[in-house]
Amino acid sequence: MKEKALIFDVKRDCSEDGPGIRTTVFFKGCPLSCIWCQNPEGIDPKPGISFNKKSCCAPVCGYPCVSVCQIGALLQDHPLQVEHKLCNRCNRCFSPCPTKALEPIGRWITVEELLYEVYVDKPFFSSTGGGVTLSGGEPTQQMGFIECFLRALKEENIDTAIETCGFFNYEYFRTQVLPFLDLIYFDIKLISDSESLRYTGRSNRLIIENFSRLIKESNIPVIPRIPLIPEITNTFENLRGIAEFLKMNGVSNCSLMPYNPLWVDKLKCLGLKARYKRNSFMTKEEEDACINCFFDAEKPESQTVCSEIK
Ligand code: SF4
Ligand code: SF4
Repeated sequence: MKEKALIFDVKRDCSEDGPGIRTTVFFKGCPLSCIWCQNPEGIDPKPGISFNKKSCCAPVCGYPCVSVCQIGALLQDHPLQVEHKLCNRCNRCFSPCPTKALEPIGRWITVEELLYEVYVDKPFFSSTGGGVTLSGGEPTQQMGFIECFLRALKEENIDTAIETCGFFNYEYFRTQVLPFLDLIYFDIKLISDSESLRYTGRSNRLIIENFSRLIKESNIPVIPRIPLIPEITNTFENLRGIAEFLKMNGVSNCSLMPYNPLWVDKLKCLGLKARYKRNSFMTKEEEDACINCFFDAEKPESQTVCSEIK
């Protein structure tokens, strides 16, 4: 199998990406660019470079990275200056750096190589009911590869799950990918099309349509996941609108994902500026207010959608 994918991480011992203990593979490239993205290093479909200022020991190291960079993307300064836009990912600077302050983002991998990496965890999958989850970025951006990889996992009897933003070619997904999946986590972020365009860079029409079709046609669980982003997705109008949409589709369960501000540090390493400013976790009161949006205020006993908060 010649097919290769660009991935940026493989995380072991994950407990929140599906049943049991799981190994999660993060694929690079996403059609959306949500301003609060928790994995901003996964948006760009090309390889990248990360510079962690806190780990850089310059000038003690003598700047070996600057000496090997032939295009002037690294400037000798205290701290080191990195021109991310100039970097052509020649990979020369990573190994001379004694503290791993400079690191590559993204590596190309074949189906066999990735299968080999996750296969070592099979005993944990078997004993806990776990398996492999595809995440990102957006895994369906590399649809041909994930089709082959999922097929190989099923041949090894390994449980499979995907986390998707829902922006994909439905027919390809249904015919080539769905048959090899056991579980789908499907993000529903914004119910208003104009808000979706404003905060994620994409209309939500395809996402909404794909979700409704999957709910009707899939014979595996499709769990909606709703990121709670203060003042963007956690508004009463948005959550109430999503609750009504789920109810209309006969969905009785969803997962609410509270905002996690730790992504801001990742942005700094990528040389990007934050487009969303909140830097604190949500309070218990804020989380409770979100859950309440899924209940009918006048008939609290009649639950609109049974929600689970992570
Ligand atoms: S990867 Fe290559 S081009 Fe990019 S900063 Fe390092 S040495 Fe320079
Ligand atoms: S990035 Fe690494 S090699 Fe470059 S100046 Fe910092 S510590 Fe030295």
